[in-house]
Amino acid sequence: MAYITLKDINKIYPNGYHAVHDFNLEIEKGEFIVFVGPSGCGKSTTLRMIAGLEDISKGDFLINGKRANEMGPREREVAMVFQSYALYPQMTVFDNLAYGLTLQGVDEDVIEEKVKRTAKVLGLTDYLDRLPRALSGGQRQRVAVGRAIIRKVGIFLMDEPLSNLDAKQRVTMRSEITQIHRETGATTIYVTHDQTEAMTMADRIVVMKDGYVQQIGTPYELYFNPVNVFVAGFIGEPPMNFVRSSVKNGKMAFGPAELDIGKKLGEKAKAYEGKELVFGFRPEAIVLGEQADAYTLTADVELTEMLGDNTNVYIRMDDKQAILKVDPHDTPELDSKITFSIPYQNVYLFDGETEKVIE
Ligand code: ADP
Repeated sequence: MAYITLKDINKIYPNGYHAVHDFNLEIEKGEFIVFVGPSGCGKSTTLRMIAGLEDISKGDFLINGKRANEMGPREREVAMVFQSYALYPQMTVFDNLAYGLTLQGVDEDVIEEKVKRTAKVLGLTDYLDRLPRALSGGQRQRVAVGRAIIRKVGIFLMDEPLSNLDAKQRVTMRSEITQIHRETGATTIYVTHDQTEAMTMADRIVVMKDGYVQQIGTPYELYFNPVNVFVAGFIGEPPMNFVRSSVKNGKMAFGPAELDIGKKLGEKAKAYEGKELVFGFRPEAIVLGEQADAYTLTADVELTEMLGDNTNVYIRMDDKQAILKVDPHDTPELDSKITFSIPYQNVYLFDGETEKVIE
C-alpha cells in the first residue's frame, strides 16, 4: 500500500480557475518526490492541498490508506518549508529551532537534545547562540529546514526552498537536503521550477504543465524516455534541439538536409507520409564527423561558449538553429563548418499534432 495516494485530484479556485486537473500519484514511504514545471503550472497548489492549506475540490487524498481530504494540517503530520523562510529575528538559532517543540510543551531536556542533534545534522552547532541576522543566507535556510525536520513528522513538504539563495549556495544546499533526507528518511515532496534541482534530488519527478501532469518517472526515465515534446524540452540543459517539418517521400527537411525517417522508424515511417513530425536530439547526443547508423549533417558555426567541461556550439543550417555540446578540445572556429552525426538511437520523433513521442 502506498503511503500517500492522490487520486484524480482537482483544484478549482473560488474564482472558477481550474488550476489542477486529475492529478494521480502514489508515493511510497521515504520517497523524495519533486514536482517540477514552469511557473503557474499548479505545483504549489498541489503541494498546498497535500499540506491541508488548500481545499481539494475533487478527488481522493489518502495517507496510509486513510482518507485525509478533511484532515487539518496538524492531523496530517506534515512539516513545510516555504520559499520565504521567516525566522524570528529576536531569537537565537537555538530558540528558533526549539520554538515549535516549546509550543507543544515538550520537556526542556528533550528539546535540548533534539535541537543539538538537528543542529549537528545541519552543521549549525557553532551558530546556536547567534541571531538570524548574523547568519549567511545559506545558514538561515538551514535553520528553516531544521525547524521543519526537528518535529518528527511523516511528510516533509518544501516549496522552492532554495530560490532566495545565490547559485553557489543553491548547489551546496541541494546536496545538504539530499543528505538530510537520507538521514531522516522522511517522505519528501519538493516543488521547484528548476529542472537541475529536480534531476539531482528526486527519486521520482512529476513534470507538470498548465495544471496537467505530463509524466512521472525517475530522472533517468525522464531524460531518456520523455513521453512528449514538452518533457523532452524541459528536462536537460541546454534543452533538446527540435526541428518541425512535414514528411515528403519518407524524408524530413532539416535546413537543406533531408533526413530519411525510415532509418529511425522502419516500416512505421509510411504511416507518417505527408504528416508533420518533430525531430529531436540532445546537444550532447552527437558525435563529431561521420559515423555509421546516424544522420550526418553539416552546419555553420555561429557562436561557441567554452565552459571548461564542454563547449556549447550554436549552429545554423539555413533557417534552422541548434546547439551541440562538444569536448572543449574540439571547439570549432567561428564561421567555420561543422560536420556531426546523430546516432539513430539518440533521435526522438514526435507526432507534430499530438506532440507525443513515436515509440
Ligand atoms: P506554480 O506553483 O506551479 O507556480 P500555482 O500552483 O501557484 O503554480 O498556481 C497555479 C495557477 O493557479 C496559476 O495560474 C495561479 O495564478 C492560479 N492561482 C493560484 N492561487 C490562486 C487563487 N487563490 N485563486 C485563483 N487562482 C489562483
